[in-house]
Amino acid sequence: MEIIIGKNAGFCGGVLNSVNKASKYLETNKNIYCLGELVHNKEVIYSLSKKGLKIINSLYEIEDKSNVIIRAHGISKETYELAKEKNLNIYDLTCPKVLKIHEEAKKYVKNNYFIILVALKNHPETIGTISFCGPSSFIVEEEKDIKNAITKIKNSGNKKVAVIAQTTFSLDLFKKISTILIKELKDYELIINNTICNATEIRQKETKELASMVDAMIIVGARNSSNTQKLYEISKSICYNTYNIETSKDLKDDFSDYKKVGIMAGASTSKESIDGVVNLLTDKY
Ligand code: SF4
Repeated sequence: MEIIIGKNAGFCGGVLNSVNKASKYLETNKNIYCLGELVHNKEVIYSLSKKGLKIINSLYEIEDKSNVIIRAHGISKETYELAKEKNLNIYDLTCPKVLKIHEEAKKYVKNNYFIILVALKNHPETIGTISFCGPSSFIVEEEKDIKNAITKIKNSGNKKVAVIAQTTFSLDLFKKISTILIKELKDYELIINNTICNATEIRQKETKELASMVDAMIIVGARNSSNTQKLYEISKSICYNTYNIETSKDLKDDFSDYKKVGIMAGASTSKESIDGVVNLLTDKY
């Protein structure tokens, strides 16, 4: 069996930075909380929790003045305010690319733009970003949300609209949604600001190329990782034999009929998880 591993498979700069820094903080302080999973990766979370990291879902779960990590997705304006009120010692590992979107959103609010955020509605990054967009804003996740967004814009009487995106959103869908908005909002001052992270774009592009070259694709990454799920959908649309697994332990299917297998991994997948899959395939086939 020939195995081709995507050159860009695995951790992006933002995730690598947060995992490295969290490990470093834990060397000197064994009592650190993280608001949500630091990365969508069981193996990494397990190893950090052994060093003392505790995952919480709300700042209300911890005492005032505790140490807390803000992960790469960032948090909402209200959560920052609560952290300040509770006098927490914050290690802010929000990815600079996410922080940049917050700044863009604040700039549009200041200049009276209606903001459309193209994003997965319930994703933590979206919950953070939308809090900086003010009340004149709307989240578009699918093409069918556009109609409601346009009604809201028309009702607001605002003639200026800015479109931004979640960093890990599908580039193809963002382009599709933007094209419809350009057509529907001809009489508006419209800014399309593609804020999709280049780490996402590069992984999506490479997945397309790889999926068209192989008999089967394995996308290594968690089911709750937005960027991993996008890679899976892209790959599946090109290569029917696409599998999504989080670690080698999940690889139960028979690969003996496949001669060429491609491996791609989301931005929150560690090198160890990818190596585990490659080693298993090499040993078995
Ligand atoms: S995908 Fe991009 S924006 Fe998200 S953490 Fe990685 S580098 Fe930052």
